[in-house]
Amino acid sequence: MDYLPIFFKIKNQSCLVIGGGEIAFRKINLLLKAEAKVTCVATNCCANIEEIAKKNKITYINKEFDSRDINNQRLIISATDNSLLNKEISKLANAANIPVNVVDSPELCSFIMPSIVDRHPIVIAISSAGKAPVLARLIRSKLEGTIPHAYGKLAELAGAFRGKVKEKFDNIEDRRHFWEKVFSGVIAEKVFSGKLNEARLDLESQLTDSEPTKLGEVYLVGGGPGDPDLLTFKALRLMQQADVVLYDRLVSDGVMELVRRDAELIYVGKERDNHSVPQGNINQLLVNLANQGKRVCRLKGGDPFIFGRGGEEIETLSENGIPFQVVPGITAASGCSTYSGIPLTHRDYSQSCRFVTGHLKDGTMNLPWNELAVEQQTIVFYMALKGAQYLSKNLILNGMRSDMPVALVEKGTTPDHRVHTTTLAELPQLVASSDIHAPTLIIIGEVVKLREKLNWYDNQIKLSD
Ligand code: SAH
Repeated sequence: MDYLPIFFKIKNQSCLVIGGGEIAFRKINLLLKAEAKVTCVATNCCANIEEIAKKNKITYINKEFDSRDINNQRLIISATDNSLLNKEISKLANAANIPVNVVDSPELCSFIMPSIVDRHPIVIAISSAGKAPVLARLIRSKLEGTIPHAYGKLAELAGAFRGKVKEKFDNIEDRRHFWEKVFSGVIAEKVFSGKLNEARLDLESQLTDSEPTKLGEVYLVGGGPGDPDLLTFKALRLMQQADVVLYDRLVSDGVMELVRRDAELIYVGKERDNHSVPQGNINQLLVNLANQGKRVCRLKGGDPFIFGRGGEEIETLSENGIPFQVVPGITAASGCSTYSGIPLTHRDYSQSCRFVTGHLKDGTMNLPWNELAVEQQTIVFYMALKGAQYLSKNLILNGMRSDMPVALVEKGTTPDHRVHTTTLAELPQLVASSDIHAPTLIIIGEVVKLREKLNWYDNQIKLSD
């Protein structure tokens, strides 16, 4: 290690910033966040510094730097564009044993300023020892994306209970177990979903009850259309902390890879017309598992509230008083259209878009065909492979042009993503003649023509081959 990472307490301590530009302003802001008493010395300053000086947040002294300015300072930052002056400041500070940072000159610094992920009071500092600040910033942005903002609140809550927990458990092992359970369980989840008061009460009762609460929780999570990169951060977090995961055929292998390794996996099927576990049994299974105190992730393809029967599953949970959360996912219509280069709406071709189920029940679809067969509209049919012939016939009978462009998207966003384009009249022929594999989505409308120009995904694959 080239530098020792430490967190420096500078609350109410005098800190000096030399220079009055935007960089100086950013450094001043950081010092203010740590509640330092900041003096800024510069011959002129930017509007931002002027403003905080006016509000008395800092002392701004409009003058040339001189060596006496460093007296009684705890920390010095030099942000001037005068390299001779920067050198002199570094020398003076080092001679006086005052930590000094000179912006963009690691060789003149006795300390460097890291990239920061701030989830107060949790703060993560990343340094590349001055060698690759851009890389440190990239790492920072990755962490920003994976650490929920509410971690700060969780740490505040834990801080408020730290003394009580120490009183209750006199050895460090027990305390560690207690906190591990809090940080990875229902209490943390409540904090993340904004239920701070409930979390506080639960923590209180977990601490006083010898028997901790036995009730688990269910996460109804949208796993998106296939590409695991399309998962939300929240989906990933819950998938990684679940004890049990119930999944079905639509959840892609790539997404399943990201489930917690030691979670119990339960396949609940859902082949078309062949529900390997009937819906009622799935609903009841969720209730039973949560009643055993488990954190249950019900992972579904796409979005759970779009043709996903998510509503039915949480209805049963709600009737049984089981806590649950729902995480939206990217629905097949969004994923497939985007990866096919087909915007679902477009100012010139389509002002609305309808998501419709094409599921055949007793050989028919009960749909308002005259509302569907209108101009300037995109229709996305889910579950319509078997009913393709039926829907093509009915749309044409109700006045839709038989040469209306149609795209049939197969296994959208997965490595096997394939798009077939045709016309409404020729759709049944395409389905009958091609070797097409579910899941498939049918997009109907003028917007399909835009694929010729906007097909970025297949082109990208060709380029990388
Ligand atoms: N809740 C899901 C839809 C479930 S209904 C969602 O929001 O996407 C199942 C239908 O979704 C399939 O019959 C198919 O029409 C469509 N579908 C789901 N994933 C798909 C994919 N990767 N490619 C094409 N169609 C898909």
